[in-house]
Amino acid sequence: MAYDDSNIFARILRGEIPNDTVAENDHALAFRDIAPKAPSHVLVIPKGRYVAFDDFAANASEAEIAGFMRLCAQVCALEGVGLDRGNGFRAITNAGHDGVQEVPHFHLHIMGGSIMGPMIG
Ligand code: IMP
Repeated sequence: MAYDDSNIFARILRGEIPNDTVAENDHALAFRDIAPKAPSHVLVIPKGRYVAFDDFAANASEAEIAGFMRLCAQVCALEGVGLDRGNGFRAITNAGHDGVQEVPHFHLHIMGGSIMGPMIG
């Protein structure tokens, strides 16, 4: 699947749509999900044009991957985000049709603040 520059996260990265940023570095942006499915629900996205996890994992540079993962770690530890309680969290990514991915720009959901439900289809 080719990357579509009109997707909403691409528009957020271009500054066309506001977002509730919690952390950022050269390679990634972390912001609160607009419709949270947990008391704390943050999305982490690479700044590069990657459709889904497999595209990112295969094609991103080492610097992009490191930058993305370090920002994830920062989000989990940030005071005020709600994930730093020592109680754990869930990190998931949806990919493509079967993964029911809505936004075709790779993103990791980091959710916590309460016990997550079972992982079911
Ligand atoms: P997906 O199903 O894994 O693609 O999840 C997309 C997520 O993006 C959903 O949890 C939406 O609530 C979230 N979302 C969609 N538009 C926005 C936005 O403008 N800001 C923040 N989150 C958004």
